[in-house]
Amino acid sequence: MFDTLIVGAGFAGSVLAERLAAGLGERVLLIDRRAHIGGNAYDEYNADGLLVHRYGPHIFHTNAKRVWDHLSRFTAWRPYEHRVRASVDGRLVPIPINLDTINALYGLSLTSFEVEAFFQSVAQPRETIRTSEDVVVSRVGEELYRKFFRGYTRKQWDLDPSELDASVTSRVPTRTNRDDRYFTDTYQAMPLHGYTRMFERMLDHPRIQVMLNADFREVRDLVPYRRLIYTGPVDEYFDFRYGTLPYRSLQFVHETHACERFQPAPVVNFPNEHPYTRVTEFKYLTGQEHPKTAVVYEYPQAEGDPYYPIPRPENAELYRKYEALANAEADVHFVGRLATYKYYNMDQVVAQALALYDRLAGAASGDRAADAPRPTGTAKARLGAPVDLVSRGDGDVRPPAEP
Ligand SMILES: Cc1cc2nc3c(=O)[nH]c(=O)nc-3n(C[C@H](O)[C@H](O)[C@H](O)COP(=O)(O)OP(=O)(O)OC[C@H]3O[C@@H](n4cnc5c(N)ncnc54)[C@H](O)[C@@H]3O)c2cc1C
Repeated sequence: MFDTLIVGAGFAGSVLAERLAAGLGERVLLIDRRAHIGGNAYDEYNADGLLVHRYGPHIFHTNAKRVWDHLSRFTAWRPYEHRVRASVDGRLVPIPINLDTINALYGLSLTSFEVEAFFQSVAQPRETIRTSEDVVVSRVGEELYRKFFRGYTRKQWDLDPSELDASVTSRVPTRTNRDDRYFTDTYQAMPLHGYTRMFERMLDHPRIQVMLNADFREVRDLVPYRRLIYTGPVDEYFDFRYGTLPYRSLQFVHETHACERFQPAPVVNFPNEHPYTRVTEFKYLTGQEHPKTAVVYEYPQAEGDPYYPIPRPENAELYRKYEALANAEADVHFVGRLATYKYYNMDQVVAQALALYDRLAGAASGDRAADAPRPTGTAKARLGAPVDLVSRGDGDVRPPAEP
C-alpha cells in the first residue's frame, strides 16, 4: 500500500514526492506516462553530446527565496541572465523594447529621458484595458504594436491580440533604459548539470518509487494507495465531462549545426515573416563548450501536447466547472499547470507544490497529536517509521550528494 500516488513527474509531482517521502516519511509512487521524469523541463544530451531541452527552452528565474533554497538542495547553479532579440525590419533588436531598441529601429540617439517622451508621443491610451492589444497600443502605440506584438501573438495563439486576455502581454515591460535582460527576478540561474540531473537527485530516495510509461488510467485500479496527487489535465481526470479545455501546442524542430555559434543571442524572436516564433541556441543557456551547437525552432500549432492554456473568458468559465468537481474529490489534490489550467512558470509550480506540502504536513501533525494518547492507530502506524528517520536527521535535513 502506498501512502500517496502521484500522477506526473514534472516539477509539481517531483517536488511533492520528495517532500512527502523525506519530510513525512510516506511511501510514494510517482508515475508518468512519458518515458522520462522532469515533465516539460526535461533536458537530455543529443546525438552530438549537446545538452538540449526537449520541450523548448526553460529558463529558471524567481523572486521566491523559499523556492530557490529548496531547489538548491538538489542542484548547484550556473548564473544566467536571459536575453532575447527580435528580428524586426531586417535588424536584431532587444526585446522587451528598451532605449536601444528604439534607437536602432529608427536610427536615433535618444537618451532615457527623451525616449520616455517618445513613448508618450506614440502611445494611444485606451479607456479600458481589456485585451492584449489594449495593453500594448496604450503603452507604445500602433506601429510598435504591429512590428513586435501582433504577428507574434497571432502565430503563437492563432488569435488576434484583440481577442486575448490582457494578461498575455501585460507581462512584457517597456523600458526607457538600456537594460536588455528578459527577466529582472532576484534569482536567475540554470541548474549547473541540467534539469534532469536535478530531478534525479530530488527523486533519489528509498521511499520513492518511480514508474515511467505508466498512464494513470491504466494504473489507478491496480495500485493500492491512500491519497492521490494529480498533476495531469483536469478535464481528462473527469473524462472530459464538460468538454475539452483548449490548449495551444508547439512543434519543436531541433537542429545541430557544425559551428560554435549559430546566432548572436540565446533566443531570437521572429514576430513577422516566418512560420516559427523563435529560435533558441542552447549553449548560451547551458554554458556548454562544444565545437557544434544545437538550436530549436518553435512552430505553434493547434494539435499536440497541451502546452499553453488559452486565456479567454469562456475557457476560464469551463475550467471553473472542473475546479468545482476537483474540490469535491475526497483525498485527491490537483496541483500544477495542467491540473489547475493555468500557465505557471516553474517557480510558481514549485511554490504551489510546497504550499500543498505545508497543508498536508500540518494535517499530518494534527493526526499525530490526535493519535498521541492512543497506543495504536492507523494514522500513527503510517507515520511511525518516518518520524524516527527524521529525528535521526536522515530525512530532509541531509544535504544531497554531489553529482
Ligand atoms: C515551451 C515552454 C517553455 C517554457 N519555458 C519556461 C521558462 O523559461 N521558465 C519557466 O519558469 N517556465 C517555463 N515553462 C513552464 C514550465 O514548463 C512549467 O511551469 C512546468 O513544467 C510545470 O510543471 P508541472 O509539473 O505542473 O507540469 P508538467 O511539467 O507538464 O508535468 C506534468 C506531467 O504529468 C504527466 N501526466 C499527465 N497526465 C498523466 C497521466 N494521465 N498519467 C501519467 N502521467 C501523466 C505528463 O506526462 C507530464 O510529464 C515553459 C513551458 C513551455 C510549454
